Amino acid sequence: MTDGVYKDFATTQIHAGSAPDPATGARQVPIYQTTAYVFRDADHAAALFGLQEVGYIYSRLTNPTIGALQARLAALEGGAGAVCCSSGHAAQIMALFPLMGPGKNIVASTRLYGGTITQFTQTFKRFGWSAKLIDTEDLAAVKGAIDENTRAIFCETIANPGGYISDLDALAKIADEAGIPLIVDNTTATPYLCRPIEHGATLVVHSLTKYMTGNGTVTGGAIIDSGKFDWSASDKFPSLSAPEPAYQGLNFHETFGPAAFTFHGIAIGLRDLGMTMNPQGAHYTLMGIETLSLRMEKHVANAQKIAAWLETHPAVKSVTYPGLASSPYKDRAVRITPKGPGALFTVQLKGGYDACMKFVAALKLFSHVANLGDARSLVIHSASTTHRQLTDEQQIAAGAAPDVVRLSIGIEGTEDLIADLDQALNAAG
Ligand SMILES: *Cc1c(COP(=O)(O)O)cnc(C)c1O
Repeated sequence: MTDGVYKDFATTQIHAGSAPDPATGARQVPIYQTTAYVFRDADHAAALFGLQEVGYIYSRLTNPTIGALQARLAALEGGAGAVCCSSGHAAQIMALFPLMGPGKNIVASTRLYGGTITQFTQTFKRFGWSAKLIDTEDLAAVKGAIDENTRAIFCETIANPGGYISDLDALAKIADEAGIPLIVDNTTATPYLCRPIEHGATLVVHSLTKYMTGNGTVTGGAIIDSGKFDWSASDKFPSLSAPEPAYQGLNFHETFGPAAFTFHGIAIGLRDLGMTMNPQGAHYTLMGIETLSLRMEKHVANAQKIAAWLETHPAVKSVTYPGLASSPYKDRAVRITPKGPGALFTVQLKGGYDACMKFVAALKLFSHVANLGDARSLVIHSASTTHRQLTDEQQIAAGAAPDVVRLSIGIEGTEDLIADLDQALNAAG
């Protein structure tokens, strides 16, 4: 496998991690549908288990198809290494697992995917972890929320559902000053629109379920490590910087340097949490990524056109797309997502909650689903679905108020999409 990094994103998305198969010459990455791998001999087996040699042991840990995807993701994000896992939510737990412990907390943006807010505020408690949700527009509040037990700042590049753009550079500076990593969920931007590591992020997490695969066929996740964080600069991250009791006292940072987080993710994270991706899913995601740049260009062009059209419709109160001149995040979008601010935004209807429900019901070409980043256009009323578990205040803070509908603009023709939106808006009254 090559982990080649090319000058052009379009080359990297096809070639990184996918040299011809060494066993057969197969040009496309084969699906290695195997649980285990035969050791050359007893010494080989011992060296693999001791991490003295890198190789394949068991597919809960490593698999060649998944390895190809990991190499490609690391190259696309400009990271030192990547670990794939079973979903975007698994990626969040896997990213935090080496950093956290009972009594530790993270400072997270209020503007997050609804399921992430639930994971952070409810399920975290079972581990003795906690999350302080802070409006990241208030940088002083972010700074003020960090205490001696804070182990990371967490945000989304383009926050689902409202299309809010996080000021990654400003948040990275605060994280740096506090000696903690910035973790960025880059699901809705993809590395084509934004590479968070270039803005100072330590770790990037993905739901590969969305644009990366791009067609609504796979549930998957990934963590990409920049390799730039000094885990040994303080005693805050003993799993990485001190003897790790879960791996015979191995010091991961000392032994693996910039690859410490990635090795820990495989040797401890996947080994003990078991949130492993399957090889077939990795293959589909590799296929999807081959056309990522082309798809994102079309997603963005469609979203820009449709958002501008919606803004002029008499039934519409407001549109949150950061590519519109009316967006308060227009300038930030140019800085953080120079190739376009994604294809996800919300539409506020003058008719309120009832009009939203009628609008969703009347759409024919848009599919009413709890997903985003599909080739086809999607719609959902976040307040009654994905953000249903949140309080009214949390819904509003997350950009999912009852009078807004979220659109994920696909790569169909805009004429057909606009015709569908127009008939549904008229039906909603
Ligand atoms: C969907 C999504 C997730 C969760 O990913 P799954 O693959 O569904 O577990 C996390 N963050 C964002 C921004 C998402 O859109």
